[in-house]
Amino acid sequence: MAKKYEGVAIGIDLGTTYSCVGVWQEQNDRVEIIHNDQGNKTTPSCVAFTNTQRLIGDAAKNQASSNPTNTVFDAKRLIGRKYSDSIVQNDLLLWPFKVIAGPNDKPLILVNHKGEEKHFVAEEISAVILMQMREIAEAFLESPVKNAVITVPAYFNDSQRRATKDAGDIAGLNVMRIINEPTAAALAYGLQKRANCVDQRNILIFDLGGGTFDVSILTIKNKDFEVKATAGDTHLGGEDFDNKMVNHFVKEFKMKNKEDISGNPKALRRLRTACERAKRTLSYETEATIDLDVIHQGIDFSSSITRAKFEQLNMNLFEKCIDTVNSCLVDAKMDKSSIDDVVLVGGSSRIPKVKQLLQDFFEGKELCKSINPDEAVAYGAAVQAALLSEGSKNVPILMLRDVTPLSLGISKTGYIMSVVIPRNTSVPFKKTQDYVTASDNLSSVSIEVYEGERVISTENNLLGLFNLKLPLAPRGLPLKVCFTIDVDGILNVSAEEETSGNKNEITITNENGRLSRQEIERMIQEAENFKAQDMKFKKKVEARNALEGYLYTVRKVMKDDCVSSKLKPIEKVKINSAMIKGKSLIDDNQQEDTSVFVDLLKELEIIVESAMNRINKSYLDVESDSDSE
Ligand code: AMP
Repeated sequence: MAKKYEGVAIGIDLGTTYSCVGVWQEQNDRVEIIHNDQGNKTTPSCVAFTNTQRLIGDAAKNQASSNPTNTVFDAKRLIGRKYSDSIVQNDLLLWPFKVIAGPNDKPLILVNHKGEEKHFVAEEISAVILMQMREIAEAFLESPVKNAVITVPAYFNDSQRRATKDAGDIAGLNVMRIINEPTAAALAYGLQKRANCVDQRNILIFDLGGGTFDVSILTIKNKDFEVKATAGDTHLGGEDFDNKMVNHFVKEFKMKNKEDISGNPKALRRLRTACERAKRTLSYETEATIDLDVIHQGIDFSSSITRAKFEQLNMNLFEKCIDTVNSCLVDAKMDKSSIDDVVLVGGSSRIPKVKQLLQDFFEGKELCKSINPDEAVAYGAAVQAALLSEGSKNVPILMLRDVTPLSLGISKTGYIMSVVIPRNTSVPFKKTQDYVTASDNLSSVSIEVYEGERVISTENNLLGLFNLKLPLAPRGLPLKVCFTIDVDGILNVSAEEETSGNKNEITITNENGRLSRQEIERMIQEAENFKAQDMKFKKKVEARNALEGYLYTVRKVMKDDCVSSKLKPIEKVKINSAMIKGKSLIDDNQQEDTSVFVDLLKELEIIVESAMNRINKSYLDVESDSDSE
């Protein structure tokens, strides 16, 4: 029985390019996907730092072209990875912001904020997005939110999952569970479209987002959702398609103008934004144009791209997606004809060629486009969040059985990976495997736990290790190693030598490269400080705007001869001097202290209102005089 949590809980789809938040609404028996303050249901996973403030979401994305080196995106591509990872090294070449190697080979993002150089780990940037999603939910619910379910790509490894959970901690959220994105989408599909499906249906979720690609095959019967297999690529999505287009236009620009824009971050950022827009256009038009004024060295750039060219540039990536679908079917031991529904999820699943290749692969089968590809994951996460919350009402009781995305095992003699739990095993799961010692008179043996599909254990991801003491004995001493994965995917490995009764065990925490508790505490504090600074800045801007608005109104009133002629000279002097003070405060734009704006506004309001009251009173006097006549 899963642990239940008190209080409202939200579901967050923390995407590479966009994030989305939902909450179960018991009064409507459905999930509400919540709008942000711009009225959008998805928020760019983007954080920017300027000389005066920190910006998040749409506000950050909108200024990216003018502040490219301090506008951070793609944190999901960095999270849980090492700086030396070849994937990180390749991405570095395309990002306009700077990333350096930190302690333990952890990547550090460098930005300039308020004139100071600051560095952040990917978890901190993701935490800022999570905080924003939480605030969006709090504004909608008009109450504080603490609990959340966060989704990750099914193919994320242990280190990426734990780093995502750390990001939740830094954001001050209680992460009730991390669930797989395609599984969350399947919940949404099952509940929205297949409610009470009595016959078993096999569904394939094709989830192609901004930065990651997942395929999952599930069976749904009544309210039982069982994942059969999952496959994917944590580094394949819309941004890779954008990159291909960016490279295409960089080459074209070079050819036309004999100038290389690849070293100009501002130009690249503008080109990337234009390419993303063109890519979206190509999903419904056969040609898209790019128009960028003065992009580099005073040169304008105008060009166009056809859908056919876009497809040609990305064909190898699109085909890779179809290969992954095939290998997922093999893992699920299913034939493509046994798939009842192919469900499209993720913004990039809108690309016509991707849809066509998928439909051809399934021999002309209609694809299910009926659930919203941008919202399905957050929808499923919100359902799971409600299921884990004490007191949630009218939530459909459903059973969810997910699988391990990667094989788990230990390293045998010669660094050979001995798989104990093969990938795509349903969790929770427990398995004991027998081993024998390989040498005489060993005093102890090291149990090294790995995750991954490589035959050589050291080429996989080391999750943890521990020692087991042994009695002196010839080689061939039997040992039992037991792997247990709970419903949250937390792995516990124990080992025992039965003759001596020696036992040892480890709960995998994967501290290697992970943030320590102290670091998380420090980051929580910093995140709080940032939030306080953001609030302070917002209040100052609001106070400044209120003063500016009032000055504008008073100026208009003063221009009205009817009013102006009735003001006493002393009133005019007082109002004018307060207005001059206000104008110079606004024009100067240096004042940091909110109270200066608030106080001046109050002062001006008192002067103006008392003058207006006097004028109005004199009107009334006149009117009452005339009444009495
Ligand atoms: P997601 O991670 O699911 O929010 O997907 C975001 C990705 O989907 C981004 O790379 C978008 O550029 C891409 N995307 C959104 N709409 C479209 C569209 N109509 N055609 C092609 N790609 C799209």
